[in-house]
Amino acid sequence: MYRSHNCGELKTANINEEVTLAGWVQKSRDKGFIVWVDLRDRYGITQLVFDEERTSTAMMQQAQNLGREFVIQVKGTVIERASKNPNMPTGDIEILVSELNILNEALLPPFTIEDKTDGGEDLRMKYRYLDIRRNPVKESLIFRHKVTQEVRNYLSKDGFIEVETPYLIKSTPEGARDFVVPSRMNEGQFYALPQSPQTFKQLLMVGGMDKYFQIVKCFRDEDLRADRQPEFTQIDCEMAFIEQEDILNTFEGLTRHLLKEVNGVDIEKFPRMLYDDAMRLYGNDKPDIRFGMEFGELNDVAQHKDFGVFNNAELVVGIAVPGGNSYTRKEIDKLIDWVKRPQVGALGMVYCRCNDDGSFKSSVDKFYDQDDLAKWAEVTGAKAGDLICVLSGDKNKVRAQLSALRMELAERLGLRKPDEFAPLWVMDFPLLEWDEDTERYHAMHHPFTSPKPGQLELLKTNPGDVKANAYDLVLNGNEIGGGSIRIHDKETQSLMFDYLGFTPEEAKAQFGFLMDAFQYGAPPHGGLAFGLDRLVAILGGQETIRDFIAFPKNNSGRDVMIDAPAPIDNEQLTELSLKLNLKS
Ligand code: ASP
Repeated sequence: MYRSHNCGELKTANINEEVTLAGWVQKSRDKGFIVWVDLRDRYGITQLVFDEERTSTAMMQQAQNLGREFVIQVKGTVIERASKNPNMPTGDIEILVSELNILNEALLPPFTIEDKTDGGEDLRMKYRYLDIRRNPVKESLIFRHKVTQEVRNYLSKDGFIEVETPYLIKSTPEGARDFVVPSRMNEGQFYALPQSPQTFKQLLMVGGMDKYFQIVKCFRDEDLRADRQPEFTQIDCEMAFIEQEDILNTFEGLTRHLLKEVNGVDIEKFPRMLYDDAMRLYGNDKPDIRFGMEFGELNDVAQHKDFGVFNNAELVVGIAVPGGNSYTRKEIDKLIDWVKRPQVGALGMVYCRCNDDGSFKSSVDKFYDQDDLAKWAEVTGAKAGDLICVLSGDKNKVRAQLSALRMELAERLGLRKPDEFAPLWVMDFPLLEWDEDTERYHAMHHPFTSPKPGQLELLKTNPGDVKANAYDLVLNGNEIGGGSIRIHDKETQSLMFDYLGFTPEEAKAQFGFLMDAFQYGAPPHGGLAFGLDRLVAILGGQETIRDFIAFPKNNSGRDVMIDAPAPIDNEQLTELSLKLNLKS
């Protein structure tokens, strides 16, 4: 038996017990005549003591030579500590060691294995196994386990069956680039790794499985924006014989359960908002509703004066920044620089101070009098002491810019509290979105999403106006899940492929198997998928997902620990009938 107890459990009640512990040397303090060693394992830290009087000279020397991260096993007696440490669960006791076995020596770690480490991100990723020994990462992984366990419990209890779907498949339609895997046995042919199990879960519904879920890896070869991973995990779900309302209730229930079990937070009914309203009020389809600062559209009150910038804009829109009138001129100038950064892209910003005496002072006083500005305040909900920030221009662009400003200011004002949870359903997304690059419409969610009843006809005349039976679950300004009610008949699905610019041959080649299946009795069905990594990070009060993934990739999609991706040797290439044609 390597150990009788772990390093986090011994208390006063164990005094005088003979115990065996094993773990890593966190640190040691050598006073010459006495040596203390902190022994660490997954469960905590226990102090070991070796002293001249009670320890043999040989063991004393061994103890003095223990380095950080050595793996050791000790036998000894639990004794009461002379000076107790109330901050440690095991702080009342220590182990008087009678036997010390060095199980493995360790090189000096390249960074300190402590909560606040001196190791930078790159170094920590290269030695991720050492990073995982640190509390913040270890705790995050344990937290993730708890969340997934609760997901499995909840859904299993509700009759869902976890079914695995294959990883070596054909292209899936989530709109990103595929990772591909060459097939040795089928020369010149490739599998694609699933961007999601979308088509398979629909086929499971045709197969009669009724309620499916899977905690599953998905792969998307996208340019990695901050905090995205090329492989990530979904809680993927699908149900048959349901309406949208059933889906919303089921997964609201799951999310409520997680918030309760994991965070101890009770949330009643989740609010719902139409996509169009989310865009109008927050400029964003995943609004953070933990705080107000809703958009006020100012076209009616700010246009048709002599201010050309506003007159020529498609949209003039502002927000009230609480307490913002206290900003100095310099601070406001900095804010203007912030919105003009290329990442935000505004051309400028108009502002209006709301003074305590009820008067207004704007950067465009030349064009607007006090009555005009009072209307701005009314529309944006600004009160005395606030600052109104106004942007103008192309509707879509200006909404995105003001949304970025709203989030930035809320962050600075401390309004985005990590321990406060504000879930929200965003409903009725557009079915299609215009893609500037390819100059055609793409499915906003994916091509299996059904249009709202009665809107199929509109596809011919005003495709951009068609709304879908599609919904996202938003938590604290992050999309944590999204899904739709699917098309389940061949005619509508073919029509949809047609509208999306697929020729019948292309549709058949790519998704013929699904359309075939729809001819053999496909039940009405729908579902959604949660992004597990992000969900766990938010529930854990963090915004970055990396610490919740045991072995994440860096921003260039590399695993710097195992050094992947890496070239393969010629023999392997030949076996796969592949020849490289490198650009550089
Ligand atoms: N497969 C979709 C996605 O990955 C989710 C769904 O529609 O259920 O976004």
